[in-house]
Amino acid sequence: KAMLIQRLLLKHEDKFRRFQRLAQSPAFAAEMAEVMGDFYRYDISAEDLRFASAAEESSVREITQDKLADFASLKDLLEDSFTQMDLVDRDSNLDRACKIIENPAKYPRLNFLSTLHIFIYGFGSERALTVQEKNILRALSQRVRSMTIYVLADEPGSRKLSFDIGRRSLLDIKTTYPEAELVKLSCPAVMPAEVKVVLADSLNDELNYIAGEIRALLFEKKYRRRDIAVGLCETETTTAELDAVFAEYGIDSYMDTGRQLNQSSCLRALAQILELSVDNFSFATVMQYLRCGLSGLRETEIDVFENVCLSAGVDNASALKRFCDLEARQLSPYEDISDDSEITAAVQKVCAHLQQIFAFCAEMRQQRTAQSKLAYLFQYLLGEINTIFNEKTFQEQVEAEKELLLQQKHEQEALNLVAAWNALIDLTLEAQVVLQDERMSQKHFTQMFMAGLGGLTQSSIPVGIDRVRVGTLAQIIDFPAKVIYLVGADSDHFPASGPKEGFLRDEEREWLSFHTESKLPNRLDNLSVNQALINYRLQTQPESLRVSAATKSEDNLSLQVQEWKNAAETDCTLLGDDGEADARWNIFKYAKRGLIFNKEKSSYSLWRNAVSIIGRRKGKELIKNTLQLNFFQQPAIFTLRDCSYEVMQPRQISISALQRYNYCPFQYFVDYGLNLRERDIAEDNPREQGSFIHYLLEQALNDLRGRLQQVEKHEFEKVTERWRQQISRDYLIKFYKQLVTEPGFYIYGRPEISGMIGERLIQHTAATLKFTTGKLEADALGFYPYAMEWKFPRDDDFNPYILEVDGEGVVLRGLIDRVDVDPDLEKYRLYDFKRSERTNKLSQVGLVDGTDIQLPIYRKVWQHANPQMQVDASLLLFFENRAENNKNRLSHIYQTEDEYLRKLNNKIKNQKTDQLERDSEYAILVAEKSIRSIRQGVFPAKPVRRSDNDGGSPCRYCDYRGLCYYDAPGLPPAPATIDREELEQIKRRRLLEARQSEL
Ligand code: SF4
Repeated sequence: KAMLIQRLLLKHEDKFRRFQRLAQSPAFAAEMAEVMGDFYRYDISAEDLRFASAAEESSVREITQDKLADFASLKDLLEDSFTQMDLVDRDSNLDRACKIIENPAKYPRLNFLSTLHIFIYGFGSERALTVQEKNILRALSQRVRSMTIYVLADEPGSRKLSFDIGRRSLLDIKTTYPEAELVKLSCPAVMPAEVKVVLADSLNDELNYIAGEIRALLFEKKYRRRDIAVGLCETETTTAELDAVFAEYGIDSYMDTGRQLNQSSCLRALAQILELSVDNFSFATVMQYLRCGLSGLRETEIDVFENVCLSAGVDNASALKRFCDLEARQLSPYEDISDDSEITAAVQKVCAHLQQIFAFCAEMRQQRTAQSKLAYLFQYLLGEINTIFNEKTFQEQVEAEKELLLQQKHEQEALNLVAAWNALIDLTLEAQVVLQDERMSQKHFTQMFMAGLGGLTQSSIPVGIDRVRVGTLAQIIDFPAKVIYLVGADSDHFPASGPKEGFLRDEEREWLSFHTESKLPNRLDNLSVNQALINYRLQTQPESLRVSAATKSEDNLSLQVQEWKNAAETDCTLLGDDGEADARWNIFKYAKRGLIFNKEKSSYSLWRNAVSIIGRRKGKELIKNTLQLNFFQQPAIFTLRDCSYEVMQPRQISISALQRYNYCPFQYFVDYGLNLRERDIAEDNPREQGSFIHYLLEQALNDLRGRLQQVEKHEFEKVTERWRQQISRDYLIKFYKQLVTEPGFYIYGRPEISGMIGERLIQHTAATLKFTTGKLEADALGFYPYAMEWKFPRDDDFNPYILEVDGEGVVLRGLIDRVDVDPDLEKYRLYDFKRSERTNKLSQVGLVDGTDIQLPIYRKVWQHANPQMQVDASLLLFFENRAENNKNRLSHIYQTEDEYLRKLNNKIKNQKTDQLERDSEYAILVAEKSIRSIRQGVFPAKPVRRSDNDGGSPCRYCDYRGLCYYDAPGLPPAPATIDREELEQIKRRRLLEARQSEL
């Protein structure tokens, strides 16, 4: 019907005032079909529509009048088309049935009706009878022997809201059939369902709890899966989350939340192919097609293809078609920079596939009539002739995808895919009838077919399978379940807000009802009655009703849920305290955690054994039971007492570990005491990019250093300048290619990374090199790279830097990024490369609280190894600068060389040797204090406290938040921003105290 509407809109543009504009967007056709259905149901004819559209009143907008007039034309055209094609409109089925029943002379076959007793259930309780339904009942009543209508209503004179529609229907029946005998059934007493309310802090908790409870019902209470139904008040996010949770808890379910079939890979692929058959498709359409999952190409091949196209500037239909011909194609800069031999093969493969698709589309375009286009589509794409999907037919490709989904246990998706395929075949067959042998452009054909695709939805819940049913509330309420879960029942989603307004707006429906005999109902008419009926059914149908929401605040619950919650007999559970056993314990992960928390249970040997078995399963038991309990139960005061733990006796310690300790001792313990590490997966991320640039810089500067070593010092400047002139992409690319063969950097050799990100890294490195090797105006003789990635302690070092703390030495470890010296080897400058820019003040904040003590300590260590040298400066160089200034650049560096050098110059001028020495002394003091604490086993989850302006809390990017209750209530607020003067004072005071205590 939607296709037919689309066709009529396109063909008879001149007959519409406004609708012809909608013909360009096929999505409207399905909505219009829906409205046309309502006209049948409420017996609104084209004349009625015309009459209402012509009614002159200033209150109605012109657009409404035009719309109604257009609907009138469309209704006429649609009915004509149905007649011409000898088709019937499903929405008119009841009308036709009525006419047949009313005409016994013409249809003697129906004479058997006179012997018939008819029983009618399920009408007139949730909505009033439509005109169509009333007509057919009237027609039947004239012919059948008896007719019994069941209506859900209460006592006459009662005023219960939930039965309001039933009562009205009853009245209506009484009026229509005055002689009808009214019988009140004596029903068994209504048994109220046992109600339970569960409130959680998060959706995840809520769903885990429900899944755990369902598991218990299935295994302990002997319910069958089909006895349980889950009604979702919100479907957008909850469906996917619940699917994942059910998978984890091993609960088989059937989820039907009204997913549109056109979101399935099969229909998306077809829709994109149809789009590609139109002349001016976009590059995005091609990529959407390739990425729909059914093209038979691998993800990496598609990625490579996209990168090459972007790099070559291919972004429209004609350029892409030329590109796919491959003849005399220029290498794109992306391919040029990457030496991956697989690029060409991947691009060729995708191009070859697209060529076949384009050829298919071109052939379809050649077909002149709608019917021949359809026949071609049916035969060559959906049939068995074309094997362009990795040498499979489209159908085989869908089959393969289905198998894959089943293997991966995505049953729901597999069902959806099969349903989509079946619907597609049905649609194509129906379309063969609808589409006439008339000439049609490819664009119109595509629009029409898309209108048909848009209307496809999945059928409803099958009742026969033993699965837990999941659906919208409206679906679930009709399902005969013993236990009903009402999930996500916060005030935003329960009660439901009613159907959407749709294509015919509320005021237009009102206008139409006002000007015609028929009463088209307003969508909001019976909202409260419907909700009352749903509530009544929820409370009386099942044995048990379990309502849950991801909020604990009463304000966020509707009045109905509050009433359930506050009723005396309701069992109300507030989730939160992990120490208490609850339904979430029905899965290993939660049970394990719960056992560790629960003091009472852990005192029984049975539970303790369980904990130790869990521990052993993980391999060597690293920590003892009491430690485990202490660790989990009191992270905020966590202290190790047993001095035998290795973590408490560091003989060597890296500066970054000390900094970590000062950020948060608990974090340090997890990282260095338990030695936990995330699995390293090769991927591009900011940290890896930083390391990659580090190494690129190192290689290039080593090259410069090598050149300097071969010349006299008076030539340093000249050699450096010559080297600087050479810095370019071509110069760096050889280091790049060498680096990607190193372990850890393989990812930057991938073409998709080396093309886009690699290019940026190279440009950034080039800029950094140039800017940081230029001669500064303050330097008479200049400074030259002397050591890169200088690691300490050196392997052959007999005199490493050892920190004596309370009579025991600890060797300090670290890596200095770069040291420059003057030609006479008298003065040195230290450099550390950082990703984010830090102000001087922030560095001072970090120095004072011990989270940024690297540079000052490096200075000490370097000085120790090179006592003949004197510090000139120690500087941080940044990889990253203000992003908002960089939008048009590949490199992060936004300043010009002059500006950068001027700032660097100022920084160096402002650094005084005695000040640097004092900072080093202070940093050593902090390191000593930290080592002392580590030796005492003090590892509380107490992160450094400072304001957001001063760097903020380390908890923001910490992986261990799940372990340490960092968000526990009652944490003190962050302090106010500290000022420079205060920092200076703290530094001075602490130094003074330390010196005094030494004395
Ligand atoms: S979240 Fe905060 S308190 Fe917890 S371990 Fe991480 S840094 Fe420490």
